[in-house]
Amino acid sequence: MAESILIVDDAAFMRMMVKDILTKNGYEIAGEAEDGQKAVELYKEHQPDLVTMDITMPEMDGITALKEIKAHHPEAKIIMCSAMGQQAMVVDAIQAGAKDFIVKPFQADRVIEAIQKALN
Ligand SMILES: [Mg+2]
Repeated sequence: MAESILIVDDAAFMRMMVKDILTKNGYEIAGEAEDGQKAVELYKEHQPDLVTMDITMPEMDGITALKEIKAHHPEAKIIMCSAMGQQAMVVDAIQAGAKDFIVKPFQADRVIEAIQKALN
């Protein structure tokens, strides 16, 4: 059975890019969220196998959403999507339980490698 992944990013084109990489590699899309608050709600609703979580988003950022999800679902597997210059936030996210991080612009190979590693 295909593993399901929740895609979280405030930029529609980034979600589309990740979705394209995932579907081409046989993953199922559990849902898409454009901010942290919606990500928390969708996680609760769909209990996906993994989440790709953007860091900078309106309403609720990715670090806060990660902590919120982990507080209720300690088993949650979350990979952070970071941009250049966000090293400090990535460290914070890893300490808060993120499995790994991928850096924008995304390389399909690296995205799939991080997901496979996190799921195993
Ligand atoms: Mg963003």
